[in-house]
Amino acid sequence: MKVFGIIGWPVSHSLSPAMHNAAFRALGIKAVYGLLPVVPNSLKEAISGLKALGIEGVSVTIPHKEAVFPLLDEVSEVARRIGAVNTILNRGGTLYGTNTDWIGALKALEEKISLKGKRAVVVGAGGSARAVVFALKEAGAEIFLYNRTLARAHELASQFDAKAFPLDKISQAEGDILIQTTSVGLMEDRSVVPREILSRFQVVMDLVYQPLKTKLLREAEEAGCEIIDGLSMLVYQGAEQFRLWTGVEPPLGVMREAAENELRGEKHGN
Ligand code: NAP
Repeated sequence: MKVFGIIGWPVSHSLSPAMHNAAFRALGIKAVYGLLPVVPNSLKEAISGLKALGIEGVSVTIPHKEAVFPLLDEVSEVARRIGAVNTILNRGGTLYGTNTDWIGALKALEEKISLKGKRAVVVGAGGSARAVVFALKEAGAEIFLYNRTLARAHELASQFDAKAFPLDKISQAEGDILIQTTSVGLMEDRSVVPREILSRFQVVMDLVYQPLKTKLLREAEEAGCEIIDGLSMLVYQGAEQFRLWTGVEPPLGVMREAAENELRGEKHGN
């Protein structure tokens, strides 16, 4: 029996166990994925514990995605450029860290629109925005960043050759795609994007997935946009982890259904 899990703090509301265990079951893989809560000052011991316990791989979530870098034997170039590790593979005692969040964002978007040469407006400049901006850059989109704290938008924009604006100028934003990466809308009926501007965009994606149809997505749908919910990115990033850990094609439909069922059952986080 192979053992996988998620390290973070807190992790009790994670959708990942439901998603990965459903995938293992569906494909008859003898493996289990569990919650591994790790308080911030125990990260070092937890990471060496992965080797000692022979845990095959873990997802990494807040607050450990950056702090884990110096504790790993090897880190991918992609994770370095994004500045976050969300996936660890234990390769016979050598711990390799990488990032699948950006692939999640890329696949969720490319299901609806080809990104090359498109103008993408990204709202927010936090950790999740970094993975989204990396994906957009890789795919050849032009990026316009809007954030409440302008300095943070400038910092991210300078790394990825994007343009930065303060969030209070969002009513001037236009483009082909709008991606909402702030936590606004999480378990609340609120949006930082005025509904009047939504008809300027072909596709609108929200990273918030609780509720699944946020106020932003409801208004975008009414404005005639194609919408992408936050679960899409979450499932695709998990599917890429599954592929890395098992070498097997992930059962996407099974993973999405398990995540949706879990979400419906309780209040959850990543
Ligand atoms: P983060 O690093 O803490 O960044 C938060 C962002 O939200 C910052 O840009 C922050 O602006 C902005 N913000 C927070 N409150 C705001 C407000 N009242 N008004 C305007 N802007 C506000 O968080 P994160 O890791 O990027 O996560 C953001 C959201 O994405 C969370 O809801 C998380 O659950 C979700 N998420 C989803 C996925 C997925 O796969 N679907 C993956 C990762 C995260 P300042 O810079 O001005 O503080």
